[in-house]
Amino acid sequence: MRNPFVVANWKMNHARAMAAQWAATLVELYRKEAWPAAVETGVAPPFLSIDTVRAGVGSVPILVGAQNMHWEAKGAFTGELTAEMLVEAGCRFVILGHSERRHVFGESDERIAHKVQAALHAGLLPILCVGETEHQRDEGRTEAVIEHQLRKGLEHHVAGRPFVLAYEPVWAIGTGKVAQPEQAQEAQGFLRHVLASVAGSETAKATRILYGGSVTAANAPGLSKLPDVDGFLIGGASLDAAGFHKIVLAAAP
Ligand code: PEP
Repeated sequence: MRNPFVVANWKMNHARAMAAQWAATLVELYRKEAWPAAVETGVAPPFLSIDTVRAGVGSVPILVGAQNMHWEAKGAFTGELTAEMLVEAGCRFVILGHSERRHVFGESDERIAHKVQAALHAGLLPILCVGETEHQRDEGRTEAVIEHQLRKGLEHHVAGRPFVLAYEPVWAIGTGKVAQPEQAQEAQGFLRHVLASVAGSETAKATRILYGGSVTAANAPGLSKLPDVDGFLIGGASLDAAGFHKIVLAAAP
């Protein structure tokens, strides 16, 4: 049994004042309608809003995480943060290999693999993102692309330490073009199959694979019924606490 995991990725949005408001609204909504304990939730604010969110959510069971990190433990890397620093700030998970990191900042599979390894060593739960571009899908290369990203991303994974995968077709991120349920299931079932050959069938069965790409309160109920969709990674729709709360409720088993 895999507990659904629903994660808000705020990207470069919600400085402290908005972060505090979001947290206060979530607390209110949770008091009115708590989600089942089986649904795990997380929020990845910008680094500078992490403390505000942690303080603001109080006893609402939501993990706070980060959107990125460096793979080294220290050194001359201007502008970067280590996994240990994130742990010290109260982070429990980190999003790695998001398509914006890959495509806007040119992150390679190799660097992402080192980040996954460093996160695991530090005790952070990595959420490894994979996904094809529209062009790659049109050329029929979806499986080849996501298999490559998965195998490379887990090249240095640490046996026995849990991680999460997120299938995020690039053409669906922030575009309003959500994957059809058959497309999401096909890709995520395939990822689980590849995972079995990379990390063994027990790990493949136990590992959560999230779907990300224009998830909203309207499309989440249909997607959450799919056998290989174990929750969501949500960008735009997560900026509104009420929208996020509805998606969390929709992910309940
Ligand atoms: C994301 O940032 O991971 C994402 C899926 O964004 P959106 O929900 O806005 O498509």
